[in-house]
Amino acid sequence: MKEEFPYTLSTMCYIEVRNDGEVLWGGGHEAYERVRRGECRLYAVWPGQWSSHLFAIDDLDQYAAAFGLVHDEKRTGLADHQHEVSWSVSPYEKRPNGSYVSIEVQLGCGCSIRDLKAFAKQMREQRGWDVATTTGWGSAGDTYSIRVRRTSLRQ
Ligand SMILES: [Zn+2]
Repeated sequence: MKEEFPYTLSTMCYIEVRNDGEVLWGGGHEAYERVRRGECRLYAVWPGQWSSHLFAIDDLDQYAAAFGLVHDEKRTGLADHQHEVSWSVSPYEKRPNGSYVSIEVQLGCGCSIRDLKAFAKQMREQRGWDVATTTGWGSAGDTYSIRVRRTSLRQ
């Protein structure tokens, strides 16, 4: 399967065929675990305008990485450790009392942020931050600008 297979496309439909022949609406972390245990096979239905195509998910690592089910250090730029985070409210933030504020983040641990969703997940676990993943973010050198729910920010 090609690397750019759009695993997370919202219209992608996953089907799980269990070894006993039962067919389930599949996907997610539990399906991943069942495939790993050899209890079923996973297929993706990629709906097109005129016809849909069925793909066997043969690269489970890619599938898991696409959904963030396992941590992928190379792809995300983020080690699976407690990051050394320093941050401050962005000098460009015009509404520092809004529900979300822009902050500038630097990572002293040598990590870089290539995947905002992965970083958001780690920050939720490590610091309780509620990082906005649907709005834009950016980086300048080793400084990253992200938006975080203000009430979730604690030094
Ligand atoms: Zn780190």
